[in-house]
Amino acid sequence: MLLKKRFASDELLSMRYLNTRMALTEKETLHYSNLEKGYEGELTFDLLAESLKEEKLIINDLLLEVSNSYFQIDTLVISQGMIHLLEIKNYQGDCYLESDKLYAVNTGREYKNPVYQLKRSATLFRQLLQTLKQNYPVEPSVIFINPEFTLYQAPMDQPIILPTQVNRFLNDLNKSPSKLNEGHRKLAQNLISLHQTKNPFTALPNFQYDQLLKGMYCETCKSMLVVIKKKSLVCGKCGGAEKIERAILRSVGEFKMLFPERKVTTQSIYEWCNTDLSKKTFCRVLKKNFIAVGSTRDTYYE
Ligand SMILES: [Zn+2]
Repeated sequence: MLLKKRFASDELLSMRYLNTRMALTEKETLHYSNLEKGYEGELTFDLLAESLKEEKLIINDLLLEVSNSYFQIDTLVISQGMIHLLEIKNYQGDCYLESDKLYAVNTGREYKNPVYQLKRSATLFRQLLQTLKQNYPVEPSVIFINPEFTLYQAPMDQPIILPTQVNRFLNDLNKSPSKLNEGHRKLAQNLISLHQTKNPFTALPNFQYDQLLKGMYCETCKSMLVVIKKKSLVCGKCGGAEKIERAILRSVGEFKMLFPERKVTTQSIYEWCNTDLSKKTFCRVLKKNFIAVGSTRDTYYE
């Protein structure tokens, strides 16, 4: 049973918005593309995990804190006698491990070895279980999900699941009988309640309001070549159409995420959307979807 769904992280969403509205540096582009790939890999794994039939509780994207140390768990699976911590990696191409370091074969570039990250998470998670007075064995695994990934010199004693082993890993999970009780469910709820929403690992580029491109763009292809036709935002590039109200709300969502310190007002959203719509339209949409705070002149929306 899936208890906590996975969503694109605030960091990934912000990077998507920024990528459309400013020129990212090479390094930022690489970081953004890694975030997209990572998320894609996690979604691929989620689809496969739907095949789990035995009683299990699945919690995705947990960010926990133990004595001031934060750690993330991509997927946590609680079954009767075991907790699996899964780190999902969507690496592509040929890599090799040498004295515990991970390198790309063709470029020689060193990557963070995810096994380290996972072992740290597992240690911290075991500490957390102790403080919660819970006594489950914890089994961590790094799952390389991309079928185009090869890892040379992978030692057999490492908690690594290679692409050719993912199905078998899930089958084995499926084969181990599991009956859950109230204790398992309480633990799961407890872990979810400990989830931290402010992620200290987030790394966004520096950006200022003035330097970002204002305007509305196509949801599908991100093109700014959009026109307003019959209450819809219509894309001149891919032909996609979206109801104006929905498109405005999407733009407000972006504005709020990128500039949490700025107030949502008719004027601020009018400027942000910078399009062929009257202030009246923005005012109407904001009034309908948010709560107005303050008196007429300084009304803002929450
Ligand atoms: Zn489009």
